[in-house]
Amino acid sequence: MRFTAIPVSKGDAFLFQIENIKVLVDAGNNQDEVYLWLKKKDILCIDIFICTHYDQDHINGLIGLLKNKIQINELWLPEIQKYISNVCKSAKNILKQIDDLCINADINKKIYKYKVKTIIKKSLRLNQELNLVPNTTIRYFKYEGNYVSNHISSNLYTQNCTEINTFINIDLNQLFLMINSIRNAESLVFKYQENDKPNILFSGDSSFNFNKNIIIRLSNGSIVTAPHHGSKTSDKLYSQLVNHNSLIFVRSDKKTNIRPCIDYKKLNEKYCTTCNYSNQVEVEFNFNGIKFFTKNNKCNCK
Ligand SMILES: [Zn+2]
Ligand SMILES: [Zn+2]
Repeated sequence: MRFTAIPVSKGDAFLFQIENIKVLVDAGNNQDEVYLWLKKKDILCIDIFICTHYDQDHINGLIGLLKNKIQINELWLPEIQKYISNVCKSAKNILKQIDDLCINADINKKIYKYKVKTIIKKSLRLNQELNLVPNTTIRYFKYEGNYVSNHISSNLYTQNCTEINTFINIDLNQLFLMINSIRNAESLVFKYQENDKPNILFSGDSSFNFNKNIIIRLSNGSIVTAPHHGSKTSDKLYSQLVNHNSLIFVRSDKKTNIRPCIDYKKLNEKYCTTCNYSNQVEVEFNFNGIKFFTKNNKCNCK
């Protein structure tokens, strides 16, 4: 069992390998970074790719992988992708339609237009690439707003979402309202859990607002990907885990003015791809049958 934080200039990218299964969670902001990293490691096939949400710093790298013909056997996506591909299938002038609709929209037009446009553009781009890779199975997940844990496969459990197979028909207007309600705070969260081994919590950019009663249980020595790459918008998780001093927090993102936040810096056991090294490096953990261990130095981001 091996967990790696892949160094990305912005966003998240985490590779988890167990036996012969390779699971990649998000792929950073740059289309080539993760692709080149995988290629260097001779990894040309991913068994499961989990896309936590549609922000560029998580999805651009996925588009890059598909563009470069990395085989992805299963792709787990937020349900919005299905709606966008249904509604926008034939809409060549979809962006013009967005502008028209925004003129009448009774909400903050700038954010609305920017957000809706970006998500639709990214999604259509992803669709384009997906059309070229017919061997990928796509599974869709709906954010539920509360804690819900279902086993999906390979000991990966949902924490705030359910898999869906039936879709309602919606129109362009409804689609826009739907996109507008989706925030990175509603990222899909998954947990790896097997017997009494340490867990891995894949946080995405979740605010952990769904976790109202501290229901997420993590065994000693579990790895937690720093929510929202260590941003203070997700610092709720740290207070939820305040009595838990045996967790390992990991970031794949670079350091910026706003990240990691103060609460993150206060954590004891934390690792990042940036500090301690002259270049950004990967952070790798292996499991020795009892606990995760690493040769990387602890993060001392100040
Ligand atoms: Zn992000
Ligand atoms: Zn650091």
